[in-house]
Amino acid sequence: MDILSAKLSAVKPSQTKAMTALAAELKAQGKSIITLSQGEPDFATPEHISQAAIAAIHAGHTKYTAVAGIPALREAVVEKFRRDNSLNFTPEQITVGCGAKQLLFNALVASLDEGDEVVFPTPCWVSYPEIIKLAGGVPIAVETRVDNGFIMQPSDLRAAITPRTKWLMLNSPSNPTGAVYSRENLEGVAAVLRDFPRVWVLADDIYEHLIYGDAEFCTMAEVAPDLASRTLTVNGTSKSCAMTGWRVGYAGGPLELIKAMNTVQGQSTSHTSSISQHAAVEALNGDQGFIKEFRDAFEKRRDLVVELVNEIPGLSCDTPNGAFYVFIGCQEIIGRKTPAGKTIKTDMDFAMYLMEEAGVAVVPGSGFLADGFIRISYASSEDDLKNACTAIGAAVSKLTRAQGAA
Ligand code: PMP
Ligand code: GLU
Repeated sequence: MDILSAKLSAVKPSQTKAMTALAAELKAQGKSIITLSQGEPDFATPEHISQAAIAAIHAGHTKYTAVAGIPALREAVVEKFRRDNSLNFTPEQITVGCGAKQLLFNALVASLDEGDEVVFPTPCWVSYPEIIKLAGGVPIAVETRVDNGFIMQPSDLRAAITPRTKWLMLNSPSNPTGAVYSRENLEGVAAVLRDFPRVWVLADDIYEHLIYGDAEFCTMAEVAPDLASRTLTVNGTSKSCAMTGWRVGYAGGPLELIKAMNTVQGQSTSHTSSISQHAAVEALNGDQGFIKEFRDAFEKRRDLVVELVNEIPGLSCDTPNGAFYVFIGCQEIIGRKTPAGKTIKTDMDFAMYLMEEAGVAVVPGSGFLADGFIRISYASSEDDLKNACTAIGAAVSKLTRAQGAA
């Protein structure tokens, strides 16, 4: 179509959104579907946070706000970074946007020139390469491997950096693998970056509080304070506070970058909702008991799903240390035939088969730049997770091996 830009034609729609939309469409047609395709806590937003929003409406906080966010929220973010991450920012070094997603977009639009490269480990969140392309940049994937626990190796990072590299985007705990970078892992990454003073780091900490067992959360600016002058730390309320729909993300970083991000935002969305901002103040300053409550529930669900998935012949996954996803290897399934006689050639074929046959929506690994996997979000009720795994197991058992295959 003539109207579309060349830049947009290279950008793919979000696969997490596409699979979730397809599930919703099938549900509307009366089909029973369990949606495990979108990373969204099933919990209600904690009541005290919702009450703060209602109070904000009644107090008339329904007007435009400062582009970077209301002062009370920026103060709350300063305090959160100090309390949880030992990071010291002034309120001017904080910006608030419509979810962490918009902050990633603002940062890249503010900093990339056409052709600048952005490095990130894969499997990666579906939106990384696409936001980079939208901002005029070139996505450079650094492959990680299951046997390294999906942790990027410093030598692989070093090999990916070129004179055009502007950013490393690092997400820990990771979507989709759940991998958590230890302090030692981050020190290894920092050591490489010290040799490339032009390269900035975007630490995407959105799953910070969803960390299990003995794993410890660390962020780059804290582990390597000497890199703080070129680190943007991004976080938000969506995942840890069950506030996906409120659209509140925040970031702290060097003043010049934050100001440029505010320019981008001031010429696009202006700011996130005034009401959501007041709710976020309560989310950060109020009672934090819900964080442990959610985390404990997710940990239990993680263990349940990992156990049930590994009982299904042909599927396998390790136990992830964070986030609320299991990234399941389905290489053995590729090449098998469905009862309708169709060969499953890709993880996308397998995901579509699970949607149709099992009534379960998952996301194919290819969406995360990792073929041969599917991702399940376990941010759903235990009943849904059990039923989904049973249905997946039954669907897989109906697949037949191609003739001649082992
Ligand atoms: N980063 C990662 C890795 C994510 O998985 C998500 C998921 N939504 C986001 C950022 C953005 O979250 P939000 O825009 O809801 O704050
Ligand atoms: N980040 C979540 C996911 O990966 C939410 C959907 C999205 O924004 O991609 O499912």
